[in-house]
Amino acid sequence: MYPSRFKYESPKTIEEAVKLLDAGKGESKVLAGGQSLIPMLKLRFAFPDELIDINNIPGLDKITFDADGTCHIGALVRHEHLVDSAEIAKLQPTIAAAAPLVADPVIRTRGTFVGSVCHADPQGDWAATMIALHGSIVAQGPKGKRTIAMKDFVQGPYANALNYNEIAIEAVIPAPKGKRVGGYLKLERRVGDFATASVAVALDMDGDRVIGAGIALAGVGGKTIDANDAAESLIGQTLNATSIAKCAELVAAKAEPRSDHRGSAEYKRHLVATFVTRILTAHSAQKAA
Ligand SMILES: Cc1cc2nc3c(=O)[nH]c(=O)nc-3n(C[C@H](O)[C@H](O)[C@H](O)COP(=O)(O)OP(=O)(O)OC[C@H]3O[C@@H](n4cnc5c(N)ncnc54)[C@H](O)[C@@H]3O)c2cc1C
Repeated sequence: MYPSRFKYESPKTIEEAVKLLDAGKGESKVLAGGQSLIPMLKLRFAFPDELIDINNIPGLDKITFDADGTCHIGALVRHEHLVDSAEIAKLQPTIAAAAPLVADPVIRTRGTFVGSVCHADPQGDWAATMIALHGSIVAQGPKGKRTIAMKDFVQGPYANALNYNEIAIEAVIPAPKGKRVGGYLKLERRVGDFATASVAVALDMDGDRVIGAGIALAGVGGKTIDANDAAESLIGQTLNATSIAKCAELVAAKAEPRSDHRGSAEYKRHLVATFVTRILTAHSAQKAA
């Protein structure tokens, strides 16, 4: 199907883009990688009056780290950039583990990390990693910038906390408190598919003791599931059979899976517990420096 008719704008600055969005009064949409928006237009699930293409705004395609390790991912950082980044591989293991599992290589070269978080698909991979990492989104609107904690950003399936006249300009991941370890496991029916169930785990370690923990789930609820309170059971603990089993049980209880063509609810809940156990067990043998 063809999309319904829309105007197209390609601003060169964030301020110009915000002005256009503001003038659109909620009938305009930001176009980033287009890997979710264009299919939505073609299926006529979305029919905005205007697309505001942010791809020609310079400076949004960078991954940067502050001196303390805080990580900034600009609004035009593509999935593939995260697959290829040596700094991400070294400093953000949860992101590094998820990146090659997002969609397929064609989509990864165009789709963006921030666009994916904004799209808020309950099966999307990046919102789960951001919640586990206690990240936030910086939004810019007519009144300037504001920071929205990731736990408040995803408001429901395909719904985020941005106002109609705001652009998400970057994702921010806080500096590690100790040595950051973590992982991401996902079951997909075939390569490139969305998650049947996936688990993002991010831990900060002081020696063999957990001093920071986050866990989030995709594919097992009406929105990305924040299991950070369950992850807190690990704080102050070493990763051993008892602490891991308790955490896996608490996280599995947070899942809200529904039986569908991807599997039964029981199966998906079992997957969640298994993935949590696998990721934590992998780090139980790994001594933090
Ligand atoms: C076949 C297929 C398989 C896929 N598989 C997966 C998968 O396995 N895992 C996964 O996580 N995703 C998957 N995706 C989605 C893909 O990762 C998209 O790239 C991503 O969801 C959206 O990013 P985008 O940059 O393409 O955003 P767009 O399509 O450009 O935009 C998506 C939405 O977010 C809004 N938006 C985008 N950027 C901003 C911004 N900076 N500020 C405000 N609003 C913004 C847009 O207005 C739109 O509403 C798949 C897509 C397809 C087509």
